[in-house]
Amino acid sequence: METFKSPPSKFVLNTKIFLTKLRKAIVRNVVRATKEVDKAIYADSLVCFNCGNELRTENEFYTTLCGACSNHLPARRGRHCKYCGAYTIESDEKVCPDCRLTPPEFERVIAPFENKGVVKQMLHDYKKSGFKYLYLYIARFITDHFLTAGYYADYVVYMPSTKRQRFITGFNSLKKIADYFSKRTGIPQIYPVYRSKNIPEYMAGTDRATRYESLYGVFSINPEFSIDVLQDKTIILLNDHMNTGATENACARVLKENGAANVIIVAFARS
Ligand SMILES: [Zn+2]
Ligand SMILES: [Zn+2]
Repeated sequence: METFKSPPSKFVLNTKIFLTKLRKAIVRNVVRATKEVDKAIYADSLVCFNCGNELRTENEFYTTLCGACSNHLPARRGRHCKYCGAYTIESDEKVCPDCRLTPPEFERVIAPFENKGVVKQMLHDYKKSGFKYLYLYIARFITDHFLTAGYYADYVVYMPSTKRQRFITGFNSLKKIADYFSKRTGIPQIYPVYRSKNIPEYMAGTDRATRYESLYGVFSINPEFSIDVLQDKTIILLNDHMNTGATENACARVLKENGAANVIIVAFARS
């Protein structure tokens, strides 16, 4: 009588692939879950911010942009410097010439967009034209992008603004974005720095080292803040728009000098 033997199992678990898939699945679900919470809290507008067409789908309401305008968002793509995010890297290099010569105080820049088109308009209207409601959409883009990138941080610090900036806007534009970001990511906010000096006039054509140096002393540690909190921590420095990175660098420098281990710049746009 013939006995049936099952063939030996060929299933071998590839741990590396398994863990990558698991990580992606977790990230996907975290983003989805936080979007649900978000929708329950905030109301949406009815027309596209950019073209004024009626919004129809869930995603259009979520971004305040119609599908066509969403397709034209200036996403940051292509090879860029692993520190400052600049596109000026040569083939096979991971670091740009500027960072090789004058490395920044921060470790990374996470920004979904370039400062162009709809993105530039959104920032302008939010900060200069008083469209306060736009904070929500800017904050959503920043937060979704950060969560998808899968980085970890201990605290969020938003870039301290000047009185002049607050005067133009009429409110603290970054605080609203930071509050949203912190609520959805669960990363607590701290307020370790303040702006102790005005930023000197931008010196066009100067190199990075000169720009960096000219901004030393613009930020200081808040006298009421206990620097023990910063020791060996990873800090997110939140800004709406990163231009040359000199201001962010000056702020990151104060955080590092007072014990922070890593500083990640998180922004809506990077020039
Ligand atoms: Zn549109
Ligand atoms: Zn660089």
